[in-house]
Amino acid sequence: MKIERRKTRRITVGGVAIGGDAPIAVQSMTTTDTRDVAATIEQIKRLELAGCEVVRVAVVDEEAAEALKPIKAGISIPLIADIHYNYRLALRSAPYVDCIRINPGNIGGRDRVAQVVSACKDRGIPIRIGVNAGSLEEDLLKKYGYPTPEAMVESALRAIGMLEEMDFREMKLSLKASHVGLCIEAYRLISNKTDYPLHLGITEAGTAFAGSIKSAVGMGILLSEGIGDTIRISLAADPVEEVKAGFEILKALELRHRGINFIACPTCGRLEFEMFKLMAELERRLSHIKTPLNVSILGCAVNGIGEGMEADIGIAGGKEGGLLFKRGKIVGKVKESEMADVLVAEVEAMAKEREKEK
Ligand code: SF4
Repeated sequence: MKIERRKTRRITVGGVAIGGDAPIAVQSMTTTDTRDVAATIEQIKRLELAGCEVVRVAVVDEEAAEALKPIKAGISIPLIADIHYNYRLALRSAPYVDCIRINPGNIGGRDRVAQVVSACKDRGIPIRIGVNAGSLEEDLLKKYGYPTPEAMVESALRAIGMLEEMDFREMKLSLKASHVGLCIEAYRLISNKTDYPLHLGITEAGTAFAGSIKSAVGMGILLSEGIGDTIRISLAADPVEEVKAGFEILKALELRHRGINFIACPTCGRLEFEMFKLMAELERRLSHIKTPLNVSILGCAVNGIGEGMEADIGIAGGKEGGLLFKRGKIVGKVKESEMADVLVAEVEAMAKEREKEK
């Protein structure tokens, strides 16, 4: 299935293109206290290793705004300052970051927005208009009664209009809600009304397990309709999990290819080796691989080789070991105790080869 992406404008966040035909960028947000520079840099470094392409940090006060300078110096990916309520914090942050995220529902009136826009213009950085169902403007809540997709879209269009009147067009939009249906409808509506790039997110999605599923459903529907230029999976978990989940969603839709795509059977009564243990070990030991490779782990050879035919490499288990195959051809036998080491070595060698061929 080839997904036709909707045409959006292209903006740049610290060198990462968002929108147009740029790859859908995977973002995350730190969970550290931004004022703790060392801890925040350490977490961002882990996010970078996991493939995070843009990172956002909460700016809660002046001290957090001041911390942005050393944080920016210590990391390699674009940095976004997340601002709520206090426009002055946006002004303090602008010199050190690659984008400012403001919430039109709580940033204040036109004068305050104008000052933020002027600071971003001076620095040549974009703004993310982050509409959130939980913090819509008072008058919109009165008009619609409760947060509806239309209320969220009106909030976004109002903010877009304000920024355009200020001759500012370097912006992307998010319309987040924790209710999947509300979110989907809001993004569908806005994508028919504007061509600014869209940042997708189901906010407060939940734990790593439930939140990933909720996000995959919501974002999967939108992405399959061609909507979305950058994503963040919001999880109540280590943010590295957000990046991993983000890439899995994009890989499933064949919108991005990064790292190992595991093809694994669910197992059944025919299984004769500890496959779940092997999978967990492989996931951990192969997390550093960035080259797209399909690795198939199958419990037995009943359907094994056939089901793993598309894989670059894999194992079909048997009694006390398994058959190693590459691109559908059996190339040897491996003892159970050696499966992990053999596969890791083979995959690393394959990845190196692929990188050389590029
Ligand atoms: S590959 Fe073998 S072990 Fe895995 S589900 Fe199929 S029959 Fe069962």
